[in-house]
Amino acid sequence: MRRQLRRWFDRNQRALLWRREPREPYIVLVAETMLQQTQVERVEAILPRFLERFPTLDALAGASRAEVIAAWQGLGYNRRAVHLHRCAQAIVSDHGGIVPDDYALLRRLPGIGDYTARAIAAFAYKRDVAVVDVNVRRVLSRFFAVQPTETDLLPLPTVREIAESVLPRGGGRWWNEALMDIGSLYCRRRAPKCTDCPLARRCASAGRMAPSVSPPKREPTYCGVPRRLWRGRLVELLRRHSMISVASCAQLLFGSASRRHVAWLESVVAQLQREGVIVSTADGRLDLPK
Ligand code: SF4
Repeated sequence: MRRQLRRWFDRNQRALLWRREPREPYIVLVAETMLQQTQVERVEAILPRFLERFPTLDALAGASRAEVIAAWQGLGYNRRAVHLHRCAQAIVSDHGGIVPDDYALLRRLPGIGDYTARAIAAFAYKRDVAVVDVNVRRVLSRFFAVQPTETDLLPLPTVREIAESVLPRGGGRWWNEALMDIGSLYCRRRAPKCTDCPLARRCASAGRMAPSVSPPKREPTYCGVPRRLWRGRLVELLRRHSMISVASCAQLLFGSASRRHVAWLESVVAQLQREGVIVSTADGRLDLPK
């Protein structure tokens, strides 16, 4: 598997902006934060604009929260912008402006979870740590055990154990990236392209899985629109209007400031405030944090 993967990766790896050499840990940090809940294609489109606005970690740390949230436009899940900003400030104040290369130090930074710490250690610094995202989990689950349907996966702790045990020494960067590329290009969630996959000869599940049967995901909605989209629309509104009341926001978002709309919007406002994405004045007007 290692030989096949290496050969394939050397010729076919995806040329992504955050993989350019020499690797820039700041760019890896920003890209991995964006990739947490956003598709690769969208991050590729928005990352250059963000880096133009904040070319260095110092520039990002020195910006206002509102500027960072404004530059996050188009990515959604704005609390990630808040986390990234806090993280940049902590790196400047505690690590002299250098993104740490050690998993344990990375984990202590605000907004850096297990996955992102591993991704930065491996992709920015070639540390030999396993990085298990959804793509890698799918590839390893299917390669090492027969999966009856496209929906089936091995339990995450099992996949993590496998990922650690098969990681080649010195391969922290290429190995993890190669598995991610295979997951993205061939071993897709639905209708995997096993006939074209370079791992097909030894893969336990190649060509054997029944189509996916999982029901579509349900998420909370209001007026038929997912709450997550309303959150994004509210932040978008505050990028254009500052110091605006909840009732005015309801009017602009729903075309009506009815008590029901305002009450519901207040619950969204409270959540965004707790996350540090928006602030409100004593008289209840909303704004992005300065
Ligand atoms: S052969 Fe099919 S199931 Fe196996 S890793 Fe490749 S795409 Fe996935």
